[in-house]
Amino acid sequence: QPSVLFDNVVFGYDPDRTILHGLTLEIPAGQQVAIVGPSGAGKSTIGRLLFRFYDPTSGRILIDGQDIKTVTQRSLRAALGIVPQDSVLFNESIGYNIAYGRDGAGDAEVEKAARAAALWPLIQRLPKGLATQVGERGLKLSGGEKQRVAIARTLVKNPPILLLDEATSALDTRTEQDILATLHAVAEHRTSISIAHRLSTIADADTIFVLDQGRLAEQGTHADLLRRE
Ligand code: ADP
Ligand code: ADP
Repeated sequence: QPSVLFDNVVFGYDPDRTILHGLTLEIPAGQQVAIVGPSGAGKSTIGRLLFRFYDPTSGRILIDGQDIKTVTQRSLRAALGIVPQDSVLFNESIGYNIAYGRDGAGDAEVEKAARAAALWPLIQRLPKGLATQVGERGLKLSGGEKQRVAIARTLVKNPPILLLDEATSALDTRTEQDILATLHAVAEHRTSISIAHRLSTIADADTIFVLDQGRLAEQGTHADLLRRE
């Protein structure tokens, strides 16, 4: 698994408004870290920079010691998997949605890949299996079911770096806990960055970065942060 380093990153969407003020985040290989902080602190911006939707004004972002500006889009994409808060699903079967990007994969193949990636607990809870149609003509999936499909879609590709951007924040607490339990088991083998706004959902993170107005306000384990409160 790769390490990720944000090295003194300065960034603003507009030249006259800086959003990240020299941010340094060190994410060792294989660690599960979380980024918390108030709305507008710059958390999602970190993800957008990692995907190179934008580049820093100054500073660097390194994956395994390599500046991502020198990496091809193709290998950058292959290294990263993202689950956003509101995933959009295709008006197709659950299996099709999970296999998206692997053209022609049949349900048996999808099931095999999902089992291999330890994703089966996530999918097993879905109604009626992989052939179920999603969308208007088929079954209306609940928010939790949709996120299960979206998470499986991202994880079945085995991305070495996983970015969860408020992936479970819109769900009720019980569904969230349920999904987090599976995610925890699956994320164990990879570098993962979880953007969240509830501290309780990221208690297991190796390191929590607290962001405030584009600056690192605090960094530590859940216990460290509670002790300092
Ligand atoms: P968070 O994820 O912590 O809520 P964001 O990273 O989404 O914060 O946003 C940080 C700041 O950048 C906010 O003030 C937001 O309004 C601003 N911002 C986000 N996206 C854009 C954009 N595309 N253009 C201009 N400003 C933006
Ligand atoms: P690929 O088909 O290249 O492997 P995925 O199917 O894993 O990519 O989808 C990930 C893509 O989703 C990202 O490359 C990005 O373009 C897009 N994406 C969708 N929503 C977001 C978001 N909120 N933040 C960042 N990227 C997003």
